[in-house]
Amino acid sequence: MNLEKIWLSSPHMGGTEQKFIEQAFEENWIAPLGPNVIGFEEDLQNYLGEKSYVAALSSGTAALHLGLIHLGVTTGDEVICQTFTFSASANPIVYLGAKPIFVDSEAETWNICPDALEQAIISRIENGKKPKAIIAVHLYGMPFKVEAIVAISQKYGIPILEDSAEALGSTYKGQKCGTFGTLAALSFNGNKIITTSGGGALVTKEQKDKEKTIFLATQARDNAPHYQHSHIGYNYRLSNICAGIGRGQMEILESHIAKRQEINQFYQTIFKAIDSVFVFKEPNSDSISNHWLSAILLPNYATREALRLAFEKENIETRPLWKPMHLQPVFKECLYFGNSIAEDLFEKGLCLPSGSNLTTSDKDRITEVVRRFF
Ligand SMILES: *Cc1c(COP(=O)(O)O)cnc(C)c1O
Repeated sequence: MNLEKIWLSSPHMGGTEQKFIEQAFEENWIAPLGPNVIGFEEDLQNYLGEKSYVAALSSGTAALHLGLIHLGVTTGDEVICQTFTFSASANPIVYLGAKPIFVDSEAETWNICPDALEQAIISRIENGKKPKAIIAVHLYGMPFKVEAIVAISQKYGIPILEDSAEALGSTYKGQKCGTFGTLAALSFNGNKIITTSGGGALVTKEQKDKEKTIFLATQARDNAPHYQHSHIGYNYRLSNICAGIGRGQMEILESHIAKRQEINQFYQTIFKAIDSVFVFKEPNSDSISNHWLSAILLPNYATREALRLAFEKENIETRPLWKPMHLQPVFKECLYFGNSIAEDLFEKGLCLPSGSNLTTSDKDRITEVVRRFF
């Protein structure tokens, strides 16, 4: 078989990325600082609006780690985290010696369930352990129930660290994801909606928090002629070369989002006549997803696996939905609040090729597998 592989989501350059990289070479800014870093941060700030300040970092995971430090999370604390997510949402809690408390999803957005969240908060407060932060995720680009989650955060005075790694360009009631939490993390890893090859950012509401992020990300050097430190620092700043790719990617962000949304429409169309398959979409017009990945739900685990293998046979990459964190061996001791919605999604769900570079002939091959399978 020599059919070319169709990827779930692969890097898609716009064409101007190399111009920014060449500029960096010409000016000898080959360092984790420079004009591309500043320029990329400005582009993101202008894009997000809502008085957002952006610190460019080496990864989304680094952004979540520094975000938790900002919120004062330390050894022995508890942090609530959506269970249905990628492990990078939860790992930084453990880096700090704190404990994740996992909360289930609701069926409409597949993101953190307001009822289970409130139940978890009440239960932990009763045990004398008020959680320090809530990590809520806009999975696959789908905004979580913003108003309900923000209301709970305010009611109990627990800040939200918004994991917007998959949701750059998604909106809730016209406002962009990444602007709802006290802080938000973005990711520019290779398979995300835009890529810098590897990178991330922390979005803050105040200039001083952006400055503090940059301070912590550059080894926390005090203002002195020698190397003087009164805090523990990290080496988390984004490279000026990578930031150059990011500046080029910002020029095509909107058109690439439009393509992913179009791909979601394509899946809505090919599965329309198949009643047993649900194609994940916005529950109502308040939310607009960037449709980073399109996903479907099948009737059961066996069908999901059979379809996955049918695609694999044709060299088409698909992937089961995220395995919930409370089911992961590494987190098996952690508390969990919920009703097995995330477990059900994991059993029945499959992510389909969704890259903005998917071609018409790729779509034909996908359609053919679906036609034969059903
Ligand atoms: C990709 C991702 C991250 C981590 O970002 P990196 O840049 O890969 O470190 C965190 N959370 C979610 C939900 C992600 O998809």
